Amino acid sequence: MNTTPAYTYDAAPQRVLHGPGRAAELGAELARLGARRALLLCSPGQRTLAERLAAPLGAGCAGVIATARVHVPVALAQAAAAQARALQADALVAVGGGSTQGLAKALALELALPVLALPTTYAGSEATAIYGLTDQGHKRTGREARVRPLGVIYDPELSRALPLATSVASALNGMAHAVEALYAPDASPITDALARQGLRLFAQGLTGLPAAPQDLALRGQLLSAAWLCGHVLDQTRMGLHHRLCHVLGGRFDLPHAELHALLLPHVVATLAPHMPGPLQALREALGQAEPAAALQALADSAGLPRSLQALGVPADALAELARQAADEARSHRLTPDMATVLALLQRAHAGLPAA
Ligand code: NAD
Repeated sequence: MNTTPAYTYDAAPQRVLHGPGRAAELGAELARLGARRALLLCSPGQRTLAERLAAPLGAGCAGVIATARVHVPVALAQAAAAQARALQADALVAVGGGSTQGLAKALALELALPVLALPTTYAGSEATAIYGLTDQGHKRTGREARVRPLGVIYDPELSRALPLATSVASALNGMAHAVEALYAPDASPITDALARQGLRLFAQGLTGLPAAPQDLALRGQLLSAAWLCGHVLDQTRMGLHHRLCHVLGGRFDLPHAELHALLLPHVVATLAPHMPGPLQALREALGQAEPAAALQALADSAGLPRSLQALGVPADALAELARQAADEARSHRLTPDMATVLALLQRAHAGLPAA
């Protein structure tokens, strides 16, 4: 008897190129889109890389804007949009991590331009139609099909020099998408399979990375994992973990990937007893009997911050944060009460082992 509940899987069209050296195909990919004046976007630290990728485009490059920063401040996006208009850009190329992908999405939203992504971290934003904008400490997110990049070029050469701590933090951010997809109310056998494979590739890749950070095969594996986990983020509704990161990150302007890495083990430890199916999937994907401890060990191995206190979150803010996050997560399948969320936050605040 078929016991699979009814589901809808709305596959999103996106062309993905993967492999060392494939960034050299940027010009050809832009031509496929019919673009003649591409504007390259990046964070300040990736300007040299973006200019190197822009050089072969010649007159096909309208310019490079190197102002991307985390959580896409509205004023920054407006200034970049004005520049894009002045430069008569007809396509956007996002060279960087989630901050750069976020800036490209904000411009795509405003200007209805196509986006090509060349990701350099493992956040996975390039696989989603989700955008975020921050105004005066408040982060607003939404979904619009037109902000999802039409093409992604995963060239492991571009993330070869990504520092270990940033690599692990953004990978744990990526893993959080797949973890929450496993118990999402709209999970399906399709998202399940993709989430498990994404987690498996991340776990294997991160295990090997400290000994071989320049290894292109490992970097490529992590990029494949980033797409898989980003794709299931695009396809499912996120729960408590993403709500906590949203509420905390927005309120205290915390580093996004590090916050995900810190909280994910605590969320898994808290929810695991209530989700035998997803817990088993996590055990298999990570190859570990205790997924929460395994995730925390990964974060610890890269020296990531262990406590919310170390990130500057005051203890007296925890109760209100717990109430807000529990409230916002209410429509999800697993919705712990406020006291449970507060206990989770208190452990994370003190830097205790996830339990
Ligand atoms: P990031 O893009 O800010 O990058 C982190 C740091 O790494 C930056 O200082 C950057 O300059 C540097 N960096 C990037 N690539 C590098 C490289 N190859 N070598 C050396 N340094 C490099 O951070 P992130 O964690 O990738 O993304 C975080 C942002 O992404 C947040 O704003 C988050 O909300 C967003 N996000 C959005 C989605 C979505 O679907 N919309 C999904 C995940 C994350």
